[in-house]
Amino acid sequence: MQPRVQKVVIAGGGTAGWMAGAALAKMLGKNLQITLVESEEIGTVGVGEATIPTLHIFHRLLGIKEAEFMAATNATFKLGIAFEHWHDIDKHYIHSFGFLGKDCWACGFQHFWRRGVQLGLASQIGDYCVEHLAAREGRFAVLPNQDLNHAYHMDAGLYAKFLRQLAEQHGLKRIEGKIDQVLQHDDGAIKALQLQDGQLIEGDLFLDCTGFRGLLIEQALHTGYDDWSHWLPCDSAVAVQTKTVSAPVAYTRSIAHDSGWQWRIPLQSRVGNGMVFCSKYWSDDVAKQKLLENLQGEPLMMPKVLKFRTGTRRKHWNKNVVAIGLSSGFLEPLESTSIHLIQRNIIRLLQMFPSYGIQPADIAEYNRQAQQEMENIRDFIILHYKQTDRSDSPFWRYCQSMPVPESLQHRLDLFAQTGRVYKIGLELFGEASWLQVMIGQGLIQQQYHPIVDSMSPEELRDFLDKIKANVRKTVSGYPDVNDFIRHYCQTA
Ligand code: FAD
Repeated sequence: MQPRVQKVVIAGGGTAGWMAGAALAKMLGKNLQITLVESEEIGTVGVGEATIPTLHIFHRLLGIKEAEFMAATNATFKLGIAFEHWHDIDKHYIHSFGFLGKDCWACGFQHFWRRGVQLGLASQIGDYCVEHLAAREGRFAVLPNQDLNHAYHMDAGLYAKFLRQLAEQHGLKRIEGKIDQVLQHDDGAIKALQLQDGQLIEGDLFLDCTGFRGLLIEQALHTGYDDWSHWLPCDSAVAVQTKTVSAPVAYTRSIAHDSGWQWRIPLQSRVGNGMVFCSKYWSDDVAKQKLLENLQGEPLMMPKVLKFRTGTRRKHWNKNVVAIGLSSGFLEPLESTSIHLIQRNIIRLLQMFPSYGIQPADIAEYNRQAQQEMENIRDFIILHYKQTDRSDSPFWRYCQSMPVPESLQHRLDLFAQTGRVYKIGLELFGEASWLQVMIGQGLIQQQYHPIVDSMSPEELRDFLDKIKANVRKTVSGYPDVNDFIRHYCQTA
């Protein structure tokens, strides 16, 4: 018999710690004693403000109302990501959260679109997607049964405060203090956290949310790390917040440079900016200078440099420690997936919660699923670097010529040769995402499905034009996104 899990200790109070704390307290708080330790002196990573639509699932679980959340975190709506200069210098596209055109039972919309392009009947693929056009035109609405697939840009510090309130309402106990030592049982499992002031916090299950430090999962348990930096060579970032100088756009901007890329995340109150770069080609000073040269508003702080290593912890759950957040691994924020991975790990832990004792089979299954999710997202991110026409710098030449994981190579070959998109059951990025990025990065499918030829060119034109007209009509009925946000937040 394994001992029952009654005391849960969360080490760390960044986005990961507070998301985990709020969810566990709300769902299991009646049966558990939950403690969270965080250190204001150490602080949080201070970035991580762009999300993807899956956050709705987490908020539904917690009973969070959208308008309240947006007002509390100065959030704006996000309908996708604009990739500028990624395919090539001066070539831009949007990866929106929407679906493309219409599929038929035999094949996806890309086959009709491809033939339309060949015949000069089709325009850019985003014209056939509501979210794409709404992002470009800055329009938005929340309508019953017609919701736009959307996410948010939010202030991460305010989000942690918002979740803290919720967690404390459900009985979570917060302790301010620095963890000085991690005490272990004879079998290596964690027994207690000793704080600098001498306090001892004992637990049955520990969540390591200590960020890149990985205080429990790595420093105490030496779990190991699979390094993916040969596929994703960026290893540094410099971040700075600026004053708002223009109305927020409804998408994240990702602007490629010669040895990295820059993000712009517009909030209601300010703009988050940063440069992700590869230290082999740019020093910290060069990256800072490039970022400062490319800002739109006045900086509100000194630029902050962050170092990271792309990859995954070998086990996300080891003994009685579950690593959530940056302690479990890191994929660069190109597709804003870290908060999603935090939420997935929390939901998985809730589903497999070891109330009756920690079982090796649960640990193995949890790790298998977590690993699979990381690998799928990793492949999607590598796609942006590998599939490019840029060869204007050593960085881009490296990316163009690097071998990629077989799983990704197969997807690229399948699409290039047949126009079909490889699908895995419950993968985060669906067909529409793969299509928008593959096409946006300049990958051209050689064939289209023969069913398209059942339409005459006139019928194909009519089919494509109708979809496009419907998209335009729908979007033109939406109000300006920022007027909508102002009004919406007042209802909170
Ligand atoms: P942290 O924020 O680092 O929190 C760690 C916590 O542990 C803190 O509370 C700290 O005080 C505490 N702690 C550490 N050591 C001790 C100790 N000894 N004693 C007590 N407490 C301790 N994700 C997205 O989804 N979207 C994005 O747009 C995005 N952009 C990013 C950009 C960059 C450059 C980077 C590096 C990451 C980005 N991420 C993004 C990832 C995102 O920032 C993280 O997933 C998220 O903030 C969670 O971080 P965390 O809570 O794991 O770690």
